[in-house]
Amino acid sequence: METAQRPVATPLDAPAIRRQFPILADPDLVYLDSAASSQKPLAVLEAMERYYREDYANVHRGVYRLAERSTEAYDEARRAVARFFNVPSTTQVIFTRNTTEAIKLVAHSWGSTNLRSGDIIVLSEMEHHSNLVPWQLAATRTGARLEFIGLTPDGQLSLDDLDEHLATGRVRLVSLCHVSNMLGTINPVEEITRRAHDRGALVMLDGAQAAPHLPVDLSTLDVDFYAASAHKMCGPMGVGMLYGRLELLEAMPPFLGGGDMIRTVGWRESTWADLPSKFEAGTPSVADAVGFGAACEFLSSLSMSAVREHEIELTRYLYHQLIELPEVEVYGPVPECRSGAVSFNMGDVHPHDVASILDESGVCVRAGHHCTQPLHDKLGLAASVRASVYVYNTVDDVDRLIEALHRVRSVFA
Ligand code: PLP
Repeated sequence: METAQRPVATPLDAPAIRRQFPILADPDLVYLDSAASSQKPLAVLEAMERYYREDYANVHRGVYRLAERSTEAYDEARRAVARFFNVPSTTQVIFTRNTTEAIKLVAHSWGSTNLRSGDIIVLSEMEHHSNLVPWQLAATRTGARLEFIGLTPDGQLSLDDLDEHLATGRVRLVSLCHVSNMLGTINPVEEITRRAHDRGALVMLDGAQAAPHLPVDLSTLDVDFYAASAHKMCGPMGVGMLYGRLELLEAMPPFLGGGDMIRTVGWRESTWADLPSKFEAGTPSVADAVGFGAACEFLSSLSMSAVREHEIELTRYLYHQLIELPEVEVYGPVPECRSGAVSFNMGDVHPHDVASILDESGVCVRAGHHCTQPLHDKLGLAASVRASVYVYNTVDDVDRLIEALHRVRSVFA
């Protein structure tokens, strides 16, 4: 069996990065749940506090200087997010509450004007509920049908299934996770997009697990919509983003109606503001957007290529350490085709028991169905344990997890 050497160094100085995260000052804390939500560096916390202390006022409304500074902070946050994803125009970056809301925006707004009875929306069997339920609702509303790309035995998407669905000529949209939050699979999204576009279908990517971990260049990726959440990218909870192709966003009707998203309002009808305001009704979560911008700058300062390389090293080591434990079954592909989210089970020990015992050793992992209930059903599982690594995790963290798993084995022996 192939084994992974304990990495001596990775492209990131993870111990130094860890020191920038106040919550990780506790040396006993081994945080391996970043796929659920990442921790926040000082740079993000300070940017948000500075905004509240120095620049706070409502945006887009005041003519006084403080309100202008607040609006400028919000605009700069959008520019920072656009730079991170290499989006040509800030009009294509819509702030949402999270990935879920970004997908819902497309499913509702694009879906209601573009889907008809008999149309097909293609999803996959590895989708998070966030990229499943909004399309179920859209299908119910419009009469469109959902079809699924199945999985190969090693946890990758079956591109033959994609081709079969596309061959019907009825597929309007393919909406997939860029990276699976359960299997860790990094999907071949360039190839999928090429095939979908060749058949006239649009492509939406759920980037919740990709944006924090891989370089994502939306100017070359060629997808039509892309969604991400700040809280998984070292930013705050409560803000996410939707990228859209300009002509699609311009043609789409608003999602929520109210203040800020209008140009004119009459008693019986209104007209809409330009992008991106058309999709941002009401007072936005400005401090969260400022934190999102700071998180993008923080990750860029580490270099997303280095983040990826660091995670490849850690994931390879984690994966091989796990499969060497006799009772452990790891799900998903080999380390080279996956991200740092690694789901597994330990014989018939319930994942909640595994996670509770790990917690006694200060090791935080996720246990449950990770919002992928249909995928767990498909794999014949009620639940699994998931350990996930990020920029602040070290080789020692992996060792601490494995040591704690030995304790689980001895408790249940
Ligand atoms: N998609 C994937 C692949 C995820 O992992 C998650 C969160 O775990 C989401 C969507 C939903 O993200 P949020 O809860 O921030 O909307």
